[in-house]
Amino acid sequence: MIKITLPDGTVKEYSKGSTPMEIAKSISEGLARNVISAKYKDTIVETVTPLNEDGSLTLYTWNDDEGKKAFWHSSSHIVAQALEELFPGAKLTIGPAIENGFYYDVDFGEHSVSEKDFPAIEKRALEIARGKHDFKMHPVTKADALERYRSQGNEFKVELIENLEDGSITFCDHDTFTDLCRGGHIPNTGIVKAIKILNVAGAYWRGDENNKQLTRVYGISFPKQKELTEYLQLLEEAKKRDHRKLGRELELFTFSQKVGQGLPLWLPKGAALRERLEQFLKKAQKKAGYEMVVTPHIGQKELYVTSGHYEKYGADSFQPIHTPKEDEEFLLKPMNCPHHCEIYNARPFSYRELPKRYAEFGTVYRYEQSGELHGLTRVRGFTQDDAHIFCTHDQLDAEFKNVIDLSLYVLGSLGFDNFKAQVSVRDLDTPEKYIGSVENWEKAEHAIINAAKAKGLDFVIESGEAAFYGPKLDFMVKDALGRNWQLGTIQVDYNLPERFDLTYKGSDNELHRPVMIHRAPFGSMERFIALLLEHTGGNFPLWLTPEQAIVLPVSEKHEKYAEKVLKSLENHEIRALIDNRNETVGKKIREAEMNKTPFMLIVGESEEEHNTVAIRRHGGEDLGSIGIQDFVDLVAKEINSTLKSFKN
Ligand SMILES: [Zn+2]
Ligand SMILES: [Zn+2]
Repeated sequence: MIKITLPDGTVKEYSKGSTPMEIAKSISEGLARNVISAKYKDTIVETVTPLNEDGSLTLYTWNDDEGKKAFWHSSSHIVAQALEELFPGAKLTIGPAIENGFYYDVDFGEHSVSEKDFPAIEKRALEIARGKHDFKMHPVTKADALERYRSQGNEFKVELIENLEDGSITFCDHDTFTDLCRGGHIPNTGIVKAIKILNVAGAYWRGDENNKQLTRVYGISFPKQKELTEYLQLLEEAKKRDHRKLGRELELFTFSQKVGQGLPLWLPKGAALRERLEQFLKKAQKKAGYEMVVTPHIGQKELYVTSGHYEKYGADSFQPIHTPKEDEEFLLKPMNCPHHCEIYNARPFSYRELPKRYAEFGTVYRYEQSGELHGLTRVRGFTQDDAHIFCTHDQLDAEFKNVIDLSLYVLGSLGFDNFKAQVSVRDLDTPEKYIGSVENWEKAEHAIINAAKAKGLDFVIESGEAAFYGPKLDFMVKDALGRNWQLGTIQVDYNLPERFDLTYKGSDNELHRPVMIHRAPFGSMERFIALLLEHTGGNFPLWLTPEQAIVLPVSEKHEKYAEKVLKSLENHEIRALIDNRNETVGKKIREAEMNKTPFMLIVGESEEEHNTVAIRRHGGEDLGSIGIQDFVDLVAKEINSTLKSFKN
């Protein structure tokens, strides 16, 4: 018999050689029907793998990330079989599951695959799936594995196998298809009920542009047709909300090939919006006891050697700038932290003066391969709403609470109400991986968990996910389309205070090391605005949106009155425009709708006579004619309902 420990801690005995599926059946038939993947002693196994020793077992269904991964990886085998049949001579390379679906990289040789081929691929793949073929893993010798792919002329698989150790190589069969694979499959192909090929793109073998270019076939699959339909609807909606498209339409930002890839240029409306976001946070930070600092965009190479960033990122970053005469070396700033450590080092501190909280909207530069760049979410230059807190160990608890308050304020004011937190702590089995004393780690982890509880956060604790230099808390925000974005990390750091020899004088008159906390509620201005655009579809909260109102005179006759309305809105600090072009009101309304202007104020004969404005909300709601002051009050009320003041 073997002892199997289940996730809830219960230990059950099974006969040696029992499979995860058999164990699922012993728990309940319902569970067995839904189990598609399993993890045994921290390794993903097949649901039919015989278990021969004591160990912990987790069973996964479609509702688990690991379940989806197995489902999509298995689907890539099915699609690979279809591709091999439909495009004879196609050489398969690798086919992993990804966040949403899977891909397979294929060398199609003389064939080229495009959208018109998708229906045939989907049709054949579904036929294969319906055959309910079991996925069967079996070991193979290195010689046999090499022989198989050499005879097929598949140099890619040969290269993969050459790097594997004999005795560790496995193949996976289903139907008539065989693939080199480490495992992690669903029980059989029949569970896959819907398959969609999403697109094809070029991809270099092993991501190296000196290698052959392959075709990456992207697909997704589901256990129900209905789920595929819903997913495709979501994709459509995501396309409409793509921040690159909205950013162009709303004239917020642009890119120029002349300036360079991955370097966003903020247009006036976008710059003003950023400014409002910055002011919003600065105001709250001031109340939370932060002080603003300013540091340069470059720093001596030595600075990053001290911080350790050079060792870690040097080769993969922008290369140093050399001064012409002195032979100095400077790096574009990849992080603000080293600069802030030197600000702390500018004078000695006593424990009575801590915490010090230095904040900066600091622009940093990081090299990203051109193929990795994406709108505002993957760029080469971006501005962090960065701050570093230097405090004593005893202050960690209060500081964490303070930062969580600020983060919650930011999320609330911007309409994010669906979020979770993740607390990343040490892996207690590998203490050698972490720097700093065990006592301090315990204190810090306790402080974070304590603060998360005290602030009522919905959080999970992930052990082993902490950085080597300290535990952290991340906010994960779910956007309107149900996608997860990681925002606002609060990171404890024992490493930089050590490397920069930061000290403070304690009550014992001795020098002590402060703890450092890195935090950025937005993360980066660029990525945050991208998220806001996609979350709101461009309909920003009223306090933040570019123009809050547009005045639309119905004819030239009412222009004067429209100007008067505009003036009084401006006097009340409402951001408004006037559209006095010689166009029909219908056309003006359509354009204002396109621009997502929240309020359209239509003025004609009756409005002028009664000193009112006829209000139409973005989206079409007619609010009738009201006095100008009433409109001003309406705007103020709506703003106050989302934008509360911080810590009043
Ligand atoms: Zn596989
Ligand atoms: Zn930092």
